[in-house]
Amino acid sequence: MTSYLDAATALKELETYGRSDGLSVDALMDEQLSGGLTYNDFLVLPGYIGFAAETASLESKITKKITLKTPFLSSPMDTVTEAEMAISMALLGGIGIIHHNCTAEEQANMVRSVKKFENGFINDPVVLSPKNTVADVKEIKATSGFCGVPITENGKLHSKLVGIVTARDIQFHSQDNTPLEEIMTKELVVGQEGITLREANEILCSSKKGKLPIVDSNGSLVALLSRSDLLKNQSYPNASKGPESKQLLVGAAIGTRPDDKDRLALLVEAGLDVVVLDSSQGNSIYQIDMIKWIKKDFPDLEVIAGNVVTREQAANLIAAGADGIRIGMGSGSICITQEVMACGRPQATAVYRVSEFCRRFGVPTIADGGIGNVGHIIKALALGASAVMMGGLLAGTTETPGEYFYHEGQRLKRYRGMGSIDAMNNKSGGKEGNAATKRYFSEGDAVKVAQGVVGNVVDKGSVRKFIQYLVTGVKHSLQDIGYSSVESMKDAVYEGNVRFEKRTAAAQMEGGVHGLHSFEKKLFSA
Ligand code: IMP
Repeated sequence: MTSYLDAATALKELETYGRSDGLSVDALMDEQLSGGLTYNDFLVLPGYIGFAAETASLESKITKKITLKTPFLSSPMDTVTEAEMAISMALLGGIGIIHHNCTAEEQANMVRSVKKFENGFINDPVVLSPKNTVADVKEIKATSGFCGVPITENGKLHSKLVGIVTARDIQFHSQDNTPLEEIMTKELVVGQEGITLREANEILCSSKKGKLPIVDSNGSLVALLSRSDLLKNQSYPNASKGPESKQLLVGAAIGTRPDDKDRLALLVEAGLDVVVLDSSQGNSIYQIDMIKWIKKDFPDLEVIAGNVVTREQAANLIAAGADGIRIGMGSGSICITQEVMACGRPQATAVYRVSEFCRRFGVPTIADGGIGNVGHIIKALALGASAVMMGGLLAGTTETPGEYFYHEGQRLKRYRGMGSIDAMNNKSGGKEGNAATKRYFSEGDAVKVAQGVVGNVVDKGSVRKFIQYLVTGVKHSLQDIGYSSVESMKDAVYEGNVRFEKRTAAAQMEGGVHGLHSFEKKLFSA
């Protein structure tokens, strides 16, 4: 008969054996044995659950000075991040990096609108003039669904507020050509610029009005507050804000050519918090010079340099003064760099090698490209990245630039690589030229060599729900691994206490849905 050990000694037995399940991160990443790895090539072994998932902290740095509650960045691509995306990312605790495939003025205006955004206030309301007619208001109602319209002297924002037209004013008015000055309400209840949301809400309640125009000291309209918006207004406790400011944090990308210095000056004037030097191969004389120049001329501005995939590349950028390093070459979902240039590195290996090096200098890293699901996010963080940057995963959300269209019954949006011929031929860079060609050092080429493709992605709904899904998913994953914060999990990885396992091709099949005739993959419900 086999004699068994006493069950009470199970833990002791484990101590005697040592923690032998799976591999340490070092063993996992042994390139002699297994070459470069991607996120799908391995799994993290589960640990012990001793806390509730919702209490897990995702707090992490993206640069030496900037810490985010949600370590997610939206990619500086012209089908991903403009002001609307950047506002939503910052409200949810991440940050948006505004693309530069546009004029410097357009990019600076986008930065400004993120900095000016105040949750609950409508900063660009539809405005009409006293000479507009009832028909104009009816058209706004038909196209936009609302008809509380402030009236200013010249029909624009920042002009003197003279009245307001509401549903009641036009409801029984059959004369469509009546000028608004004859029917608008002229006794106005207004809020002064600088008013808090709570104060504004109190005025709306006591006055029983549906809309509250906000005016400056000259009586000019600067914003509008809507009661119906206030009622559905969510609060955003994790919003990314400066230490002493109510303003949301925002980043923007630039190139490394002389005219990018003028562009940066405009962006800084608009309130930029962090600049991303956008290059597919960041280890260049241009980037090193640019980092040194920024650190001298704008010492308070945080600089994320890259992209890199090796420690040697990172070392040059760290020495030049980079505050954060962006990792990835050829792993993006729209990317054909590895195919065409034969340059790049499998992303999991790149993230581990570079992050492990940068960590010694207190420089956070951002895993950029190839993040296709929640599991990839937690793997990037476990391999040492401080944050992840996403393009394709956020593409197709409501807040991305571009219109939806239907194809074979599906609602789609365009998503394109910045190295696609389409993006490189975009003429909207103004006198500075096209940002996409600069990213790939191809301004001078007679023939443009594509490093990206143009594609379509399905409608994902609002990014505000989608990010919440990603956050909740990552928290549950942390719980399974057994660490209540990203920071403590990363420490445990380096100490060898978080264990990994390689996945064979069969293991990858087993880990996916299999053996079904058909199925529906619904990722979340909110
Ligand atoms: P995704 O999240 O996998 O879709 O990858 C997005 C990342 O791919 C971006 O943040 C860029 O670093 C990179 N990228 C953007 N456009 C291109 C391209 O045309 N070719 C190669 N990489 C690109």
